[in-house]
Amino acid sequence: MIHDYQRCVSCVMDTSDPKIVFDARGVCDHCNNFYKNILPSWLPLPSSLESFTERIQKQGRNRDFDCIIGMSGGVDSSYLTYYVTRELGLRPLVFHVDAGWNSQIAVNNIERLVDGLKLDLYTEVIDWEEMKDLQLAFFKSGVPHIDTPQNHAYFATMYKFANKYDIKTILTGANLSTECLRNPIEWMYYQSDSTQLLDIHRNFGKGKLRNFPLTSILWHKVILPYFKGISVVSPLNLIPYVKQEAMDLLQDKFGWQPYPQKHFESRFTSFYESYWLPERFGYDVRKVQFSSLILTKQMTRNEALIKLKQPPFNRDTIKHDIKYIANKLGIDVEELNSYMDLPLKTYKDYKSQRAIYSLGTSLMKSVGLEVGGKR
Ligand SMILES: [Zn+2]
Repeated sequence: MIHDYQRCVSCVMDTSDPKIVFDARGVCDHCNNFYKNILPSWLPLPSSLESFTERIQKQGRNRDFDCIIGMSGGVDSSYLTYYVTRELGLRPLVFHVDAGWNSQIAVNNIERLVDGLKLDLYTEVIDWEEMKDLQLAFFKSGVPHIDTPQNHAYFATMYKFANKYDIKTILTGANLSTECLRNPIEWMYYQSDSTQLLDIHRNFGKGKLRNFPLTSILWHKVILPYFKGISVVSPLNLIPYVKQEAMDLLQDKFGWQPYPQKHFESRFTSFYESYWLPERFGYDVRKVQFSSLILTKQMTRNEALIKLKQPPFNRDTIKHDIKYIANKLGIDVEELNSYMDLPLKTYKDYKSQRAIYSLGTSLMKSVGLEVGGKR
């Protein structure tokens, strides 16, 4: 079905999002969802922050750590680490998953934060041969969500660690302030769906996944929280979180370095989000990121439109980046480029637990436990 081109008059989302719906004023469903469901309950009372801090401190009594923080080196997780340590007085174990794609800036940022705050860092390194095999399988599958292996490993490892050491709270930098709009499912399918991951690997992988960490929706959404009492909390939603202010503070206090774009702490994600996804599928994640900032008044729509006129990737370095990705995956540039021309596939072409995800999301929304989320 071919739609006429249309862009939301309030944010910068447009018909490259295949399920976007506009009202009579030309405002999209993402914006309407934000005003109706997210904004009214966005910033809770200060007492929520107090009770959060007390609860986490109580869990950590007589233990080495109060909680763990998943740290990528990006602004959200870095600021979160600073905030809970310095402002709330918590004692987190900083947890980092190295899936092989860290940028040098990410490594520096993590070190600076951990040293500056005198915290302990635990790094789990993912089996690179398996990671590479899985990553290539995703390229060969033709789907858009080829960043799944890295993100899946990140969360699965953290859940596993928390469970093994009985740490009750995992803190993440996820936040509504910069992520009140999420990438549509057509652009980026649920990365935690192990059924999909395993089916793609079964079809296109070469070796066996022996060490690769796996999670499933049942494990992390039901068993961990309701049977083991391990929950994932996003404290940036409990405070007024302003991205530019956070970056200024981190640079000033820790010599933290900013990235050209959200998620570019990973060299793979940078290649994938700036080049692969827009060039092969026409999905430009900047539209989602800028629209979130527009709705939370951290960017004007005009600024976003000007930035969107620039290509999503850096023309001067893209050739070098493509070569880096190919080398690292052990293939030549021609092979990597050949995946660009494969027929376009979606998550629907492989086995998935989409039905369970949809059911889970409706349940969470109906009881008010989720306001944002994908659609
Ligand atoms: Zn909109």
